[in-house]
Amino acid sequence: MIKGARQYAVAEAGAKGRAAAAAALSGCRQCPRLAAFRDEIKGRHPDYHCRPVPAFGDEEARLIIVGLAPGLHGANATGRPFTGDYAGILLYETLHRLGLASKAQSVAIGDGLVLAGCRITNAVKCVPPANRPTADEIRTCAPYLNAELAELPDGSVIMALGRIAHEAVLRAFAVPLARHKFAHGARHVIGRQVLWDSYHCSRYNTQTKRLTEEMFVAVVRAALREVP
Ligand code: SF4
Repeated sequence: MIKGARQYAVAEAGAKGRAAAAAALSGCRQCPRLAAFRDEIKGRHPDYHCRPVPAFGDEEARLIIVGLAPGLHGANATGRPFTGDYAGILLYETLHRLGLASKAQSVAIGDGLVLAGCRITNAVKCVPPANRPTADEIRTCAPYLNAELAELPDGSVIMALGRIAHEAVLRAFAVPLARHKFAHGARHVIGRQVLWDSYHCSRYNTQTKRLTEEMFVAVVRAALREVP
């Protein structure tokens, strides 16, 4: 067990917690490169969200799924994580199959989709050029993720989609990265929470078969079994 890990996350998130972090998030421009990129995209696509993308799902969830960052024509366009582009197809189909989502497709805010017992967020809340946030940007955005993780009940399960999300979760709990290597299907005990890893359900990973539907369903099911 990592001594003080949860306390660190709470302190890092700030005493005001998730609600205050969510309020600050909507107007955040702390990353100059990402704020400029959002403005540039907004000029080309005035109907796009082009702001930080908040978490989506059940406020009381004990399973939280952490991705990398909004996709340019997906979450950045619709304002909901993993919605509007390829990466969300397998994710929402899997959540629906396992009884966590009311529908198998996430189309847009207002489509009536409801998640039960599950919440989805990203390590970085703004769309990065080429889908690659810098180390500085990941660090700058960390307090928002920390606030989301700090309010999870003890015994909750976190699922990281990809290495960057995995490392962001470890940093949130002040756990040295060397202690827990990222690997698809790996399970890590982090203080009072459990972290499961999966390859990211990106178009590249699914089309190259690095991540198959069976692999993804199996790891989400394994994580879900641990949810109290
Ligand atoms: S990535 Fe995070 S910290 Fe950076 S501007 Fe967006 S919301 Fe703010």
